[in-house]
Amino acid sequence: MAQALDVCIRGDGIVGRTLALLLARDRLRVGLVRHAAASGGATSDVRAYALNAASKDLLETLRAWPDAQHATPVAAMQVHGDEGGQVRFKADAHGVPALAWIVDVQALQERLGDALRYQPLVESLDAPQPATLTVVCEGKASATRAEFGVQYDVKRYPQRAIAARLNCEKPHDRIARQWFCDCEILAFLPLGGSGPGAGGNSLAIVWSVQEQRAPDLLALDAGAFEAQLEAVSHHCLGKLTLASERAAWPLQLAQADRWCGPGWVLAGDAAHTVHPLAGQGLNLGLVDARKLAAVLHERENWRGVGDLKLLRRFERSRKADVLAMGAATDGLQQLFAQQGEPWTLLRNWGMTGFDRSGPLKQWVARQAMGRL
Ligand SMILES: Cc1cc2nc3c(=O)[nH]c(=O)nc-3n(C[C@H](O)[C@H](O)[C@H](O)COP(=O)(O)OP(=O)(O)OC[C@H]3O[C@@H](n4cnc5c(N)ncnc54)[C@H](O)[C@@H]3O)c2cc1C
Repeated sequence: MAQALDVCIRGDGIVGRTLALLLARDRLRVGLVRHAAASGGATSDVRAYALNAASKDLLETLRAWPDAQHATPVAAMQVHGDEGGQVRFKADAHGVPALAWIVDVQALQERLGDALRYQPLVESLDAPQPATLTVVCEGKASATRAEFGVQYDVKRYPQRAIAARLNCEKPHDRIARQWFCDCEILAFLPLGGSGPGAGGNSLAIVWSVQEQRAPDLLALDAGAFEAQLEAVSHHCLGKLTLASERAAWPLQLAQADRWCGPGWVLAGDAAHTVHPLAGQGLNLGLVDARKLAAVLHERENWRGVGDLKLLRRFERSRKADVLAMGAATDGLQQLFAQQGEPWTLLRNWGMTGFDRSGPLKQWVARQAMGRL
């Protein structure tokens, strides 16, 4: 007869896979439930994620960090306001090799999949099985969350994020660029990897646009879409050429009212989602995985892994961090959603002041790098 599971993880996204590897390292028997709907005919994800140094360290310890060609170090970051405001960060000014790494989603999923194949304590499941602890990692649309009586408080943004891959005429020099313009946010994330002379002319974009404009932008022919991007980015990388399909995601700020109960706990987007403008959603989910594994590892020997006191310890250790990131991204989204004076003056003046501020800028940079 098969041995009972210690932990059943529902959802094999990046957070679920990472957690499964962490728990198996601690000799726990883990079941990892795939989504039936996702296993057949899933199309590839055109996104690339900005991951911070803390996420990189974690994935490296699990031997799941993608190859050099799929993880591009960000040497600098330039954030442009709508009236000349600008904030710049440079990795060397902070004494770090990179501010973040732009990681190909597909490559990361595959590396985690490979690591799991070599981990005999993780069993891949098509349906949930009884276990001492159930961890819900089903993402923001989780169905199991409601079965546990959790309320997910959602604030929908009237925006959609369009993602795609592009080639650019001028090299990006491993600079991540972002423009806040007309209530919309365009991000250019450098791709090409970390090898010497590698790439420099490919980008992943995330363009958070007004909801009603999204269908038209998705339907534009390639040339017209490229022209719009060139205009918003002030032609700084020359001619842009679409190199993938375009895909779009609805955007929201959300938080579960409870993260745990006896024998169950939420992690990743199933517990919280934030606007992608700061590229922090998955970074938060990976901290959840690391913290939950640490709390279970450090448990008193009389407690089982489903013990509510333990799970509350995990919830308490994460909620403030997640609330702060939700408030920061929401505040920025709101600030740039206001049209006309005095908002334009205020935000551009604020950006310029922030750019000149020493300790505050340093603190924000370290926070984003996951180094606090
Ligand atoms: C446009 C965009 C850009 C982003 N950019 C960044 C970035 O640069 N940096 C960053 O840190 N974050 C970014 N994010 C956020 C990031 O995508 C999420 O935070 C992250 O994917 C959450 O991972 P997860 O594993 O919790 O959930 P998901 O990635 O949603 O994975 C959940 C998994 O569970 C499966 N599932 C669902 N229901 C069930 C079920 N009933 N049973 C079994 N399985 C189930 C799903 O199929 C899926 O595989 C971005 C988000 C968007 C929309």
